[in-house]
Amino acid sequence: MKKNEKIIKQLIKLLGQEKVYSSLEDCLCYSYDGTFRTGVPSVVVRPSSTQEVASVMKLASQENIPVVPRGAGTGLSGGAVPVEGSVVIDLTSMNRILKVDPANMLAVVEPGVVTAHLHKTVEEMGLFYPPDPSSANVSTIGGNIAECAGGPRGLKYGVTRDYVLGLEVVLAGGEVINCGGETIKNVSGYDLCRLFVGSEGTLGIVTRAVLRLIPKPEARRTIRADFKTIEEAAETITAILSAGVIPAALEIMDDVTIRCVENYLRVGLPLDVEAILLIEVDGPALSLPEQVKTIAALCQQYGAARVRVAETKEEETELWRARKSVSPAVVQVKPTKISEDATVPRKNVPALIKAIKEIARRYNLDIVIFGHAGDGNLHPNILVDKSNPEEMERAERAIAEIFQAALSLGGTLSGEHGIGLLKAPFLEMEYGQSGVALMRRIKEALDPRGILNPGKIFGGARN
Ligand SMILES: Cc1cc2nc3c(=O)[nH]c(=O)nc-3n(C[C@H](O)[C@H](O)[C@H](O)COP(=O)(O)OP(=O)(O)OC[C@H]3O[C@@H](n4cnc5c(N)ncnc54)[C@H](O)[C@@H]3O)c2cc1C
Repeated sequence: MKKNEKIIKQLIKLLGQEKVYSSLEDCLCYSYDGTFRTGVPSVVVRPSSTQEVASVMKLASQENIPVVPRGAGTGLSGGAVPVEGSVVIDLTSMNRILKVDPANMLAVVEPGVVTAHLHKTVEEMGLFYPPDPSSANVSTIGGNIAECAGGPRGLKYGVTRDYVLGLEVVLAGGEVINCGGETIKNVSGYDLCRLFVGSEGTLGIVTRAVLRLIPKPEARRTIRADFKTIEEAAETITAILSAGVIPAALEIMDDVTIRCVENYLRVGLPLDVEAILLIEVDGPALSLPEQVKTIAALCQQYGAARVRVAETKEEETELWRARKSVSPAVVQVKPTKISEDATVPRKNVPALIKAIKEIARRYNLDIVIFGHAGDGNLHPNILVDKSNPEEMERAERAIAEIFQAALSLGGTLSGEHGIGLLKAPFLEMEYGQSGVALMRRIKEALDPRGILNPGKIFGGARN
């Protein structure tokens, strides 16, 4: 690929040689994310301040060069996959927690802070930042904001959007704006923070975030319930939530997922059931025995073959290890994992599972189903081999049908992974032409030259 030497020289002038990487080896390291899609950028920069990000955007805008912001590259919709000739802005050097303010219960952070590092830091101070994507040990807050990341705790605590109070954002032309702030209430003008959250790096680059914190729950308990049928598991979810207990997490693994994980970990998962529910409750220590009792009784009442309550920290870690190992376990089956996150109103979870299983059978595909069933967010993972075009074509058709099933059940294409590259061809299925046209007008207003993460959300070489 021909390099734009003039741009590389100008970037070196702006940032210094040590923050600019243009060798093929370096660029290849930035050519992928958590999906199977790849693209090699022309150059990678690693700025360490807002001013540096702004200077890169100003140059990119003058020269009409595409820019791809990047955190840890764990995204599951292809959002950080570089487009041809692009400058990747790697934000992981901007990784300082600037302040934790217990009196106002907030933290101010740079975008490259690793999610789990923020969790640990605030928890040591008795505070809690709930959004917990399963990638938290690697993912960055900037990537979480750009994708509006969720995670198991979304059921009780909400998602990233619910914790963003304020943002500093570098716009396409290099201007720096602030929206929201350090107050809980703010209705000054349009809610720009909400516009940027979940915008997948297509509207601006987040360079600082003010995040809301809450008190750290005093204690937590984990329960695993095994069900002979997936319908019993699904009915139990509704029964638990209707009983007024809101678990911190309510995760499901189907029989195919259980087999993959057991094959990988050998931890004695039951192979004679159709589903496992993993349920975590948290809150004041004194309230937990009652919550556990209610949930265990409901699981039994709705047909659980076994209910196990973790009695020690080690047992709790062990129960969660199975769920946290799903991703590495399933890639043992086939080398390519297409991770979807169709989401439906929770009462429709059984219908969506049934539809996905039927689609898997009809297209003769291995599809594992797991995810955050308590909030209706399933992760059907289609296991394929990307070097087999016939299988990939079947997978594409199956994915379109899964989306159709989710939408017809009142759901959405994506609960937390975003649209990125992979789901861009399907966005119109959810929003119709007029809805997508409105989104495009917003994009054009903020990024008239279409240089910010082109091809993401809407598809096409330039949005
Ligand atoms: C094993 C595994 C488990 C996962 N589990 C979950 C889960 O439970 N819940 C969930 O929601 N997601 C999950 N994910 C998906 C992924 O981790 C999240 O989407 C995460 O938020 C991405 O963060 P990142 O730093 O890796 O961002 P990247 O992948 O680097 O980027 C993601 C998007 O954000 C944009 N971006 C990055 N930084 C900025 C910035 N500062 N400003 C503007 N745009 C930016 C990029 O351009 C891209 O479009 C999982 C992924 C893996 C691999």
